[in-house]
Amino acid sequence: MAKAIRINAVGGPEVMEYVDVEVGDPGPGEARVRQAACGLNYIDVYFRTGLYPQALPAGLGMEGAGTVEAVGQGVTHVKPGDRVAYATRPPGAYAELRVMPAAGLVKLPDAIDFETGAAMMLQGLTVQYLFRRTFPLKGGETILFHAAAGGVGLIACQWAKALGVTMIGTVGSDEKAELAKAHGCAHTINYNKENFVERVKEITGGKGVPVVYDSIGKDTFTGSLDCLSPMGMMVSFGSASGPVPDFSLNELASRGSLFITRPSLFAYTAKREDLDAMAADLFDVVVSGKVKIEVNQRYALKDVAKAHIDLESRKTTGSTILIP
Ligand code: NDP
Repeated sequence: MAKAIRINAVGGPEVMEYVDVEVGDPGPGEARVRQAACGLNYIDVYFRTGLYPQALPAGLGMEGAGTVEAVGQGVTHVKPGDRVAYATRPPGAYAELRVMPAAGLVKLPDAIDFETGAAMMLQGLTVQYLFRRTFPLKGGETILFHAAAGGVGLIACQWAKALGVTMIGTVGSDEKAELAKAHGCAHTINYNKENFVERVKEITGGKGVPVVYDSIGKDTFTGSLDCLSPMGMMVSFGSASGPVPDFSLNELASRGSLFITRPSLFAYTAKREDLDAMAADLFDVVVSGKVKIEVNQRYALKDVAKAHIDLESRKTTGSTILIP
């Protein structure tokens, strides 16, 4: 038996139950991992509330780090005793011990501790694909990135700086603006006080930006399109304020032939060689010190409801972990 979080219904933080679950032996393609820490991510809120549907009862959590205890038939890339980390489906990371698909596991370098590993995989691999593959940054660009003081955001601030990119970051408070700046964000906009479209135009001398990375969704979508220069790329990768409403494709034409994509990490990590290359790139920036993973909140796994409340009420900054 092991402690884990289960949901029997979708809804508010109260649907998450801290229970004992049976954990058996791994089947073909699976591994059993004893987890030192799990990561908290906004996607967990989407699964908890039902925005992303799944069959119930279900686990929650997509990210963790720990030690492999056993592997099933056909698993060769990890073995018992290996230190590993992951960001993968299906949800179920909120647990002290779990059997899971081994395909998502990556060996964690010795230089990276478990808490950092659990905090960095989902958010770090996301910044990796956003900056290296979705709209590959060469250096020299000025970009707009929303929620710059969040988990994904603080990694983006540092990675953009390391790539020689000027990042304009939006944030919800002046304290968060300071934090983003301290992590390399060149310009910050408090979108609760300032019109971010006007400020982006001001900062870029009226030109706009070639790419917007928007994880806020409903509240920022149209403004983000207005910040793009002709043939710019709208990367809509999350919906913290609610899903993006339906829109007409003419919105893209009238603003100068814009591009739009709605990417998901799990499409980018689906092939083993891609996951390995992305993880190697992420480990490199973390081990070299170019990107520091800021674990600014830690909660006991049994207090996960409080963690979700704090995340949804915009009280957290940087990354958050749950300790089983
Ligand atoms: P964050 O730590 O960034 O937390 C979300 C932040 O969004 C808040 O702190 C808040 O920052 C901002 N926000 C703006 N409006 C709202 C609102 N109405 N309610 C709540 N928060 C709001 O979370 P993560 O780092 O875990 O994730 C960031 C985003 O990236 C999420 O939207 C997530 O879904 C997305 N994501 C997408 C992936 C993909 O592959 N598509 C993968 C990983 C993450 P502030 O107060 O500064 O406005």
